[in-house]
Amino acid sequence: MKLILLGAPGAGKGTQAEVICDKLNIPAISTGNILREAMKNGTEMGLKAKSFIDSGALVPDDVIISIIKERLVQDDCKNGFILDGVPRTVAQAQALEEMGVEIDKVIDIEVADDTIVKRLSGRRVCASCGASYHTIFKPSVKPDVCDRCNGQLIVRKDDEPSTIVERLKVYHELTEPLVEFYKERGKLVVVEGVEGVENTTKLLFEKLGV
Ligand code: AMP
Repeated sequence: MKLILLGAPGAGKGTQAEVICDKLNIPAISTGNILREAMKNGTEMGLKAKSFIDSGALVPDDVIISIIKERLVQDDCKNGFILDGVPRTVAQAQALEEMGVEIDKVIDIEVADDTIVKRLSGRRVCASCGASYHTIFKPSVKPDVCDRCNGQLIVRKDDEPSTIVERLKVYHELTEPLVEFYKERGKLVVVEGVEGVENTTKLLFEKLGV
């Protein structure tokens, strides 16, 4: 199955992508994670992306499109994949179509803006493996330590309050038009991002019929 997860930053795309990945045994591809890895490794792409990410802006389409082109031809994508956080602009969605990628479903996880702000401010990520946690909704077993790899849990720079507001503005302006884009193509599935990760997962699986 080839899936896209749409939704505002903090709607829970990353967490749900991991759950679907485990259930359907297809890779979850997050351009955010790929970019953060590039920044950590100090690659040319990472250096180029850093100022955009830190300020809450989107990384230019050409950078994202080349990441996706490179990633989707890898072997593990043969039986499908979940795109988490990409496409984020109409130009990126059009590029996917031009690449001949046939998406089965686009899942829009809907969460109100004030809930997003509350959620993002409690978010923690592992500095080593990138796993996602939340101080209230998905705490790690030991405070500030990753359950998977024992890495240190940190607050992402772009989860700081002023940046969250900017990211939401960018989402409404540039990414939300994709809801209409995929509705017109008959691909859209709307899932309410309710409280409790498992409850959203349950709604999502029902809608996907898996
Ligand atoms: P995420 O972890 O998906 O929230 O991504 C973190 C940041 O990476 C975003 O705020 C953007 O600056 C950048 N980014 C990730 N994916 C994309 C994309 N598809 N298009 C543009 N920028 C992106």
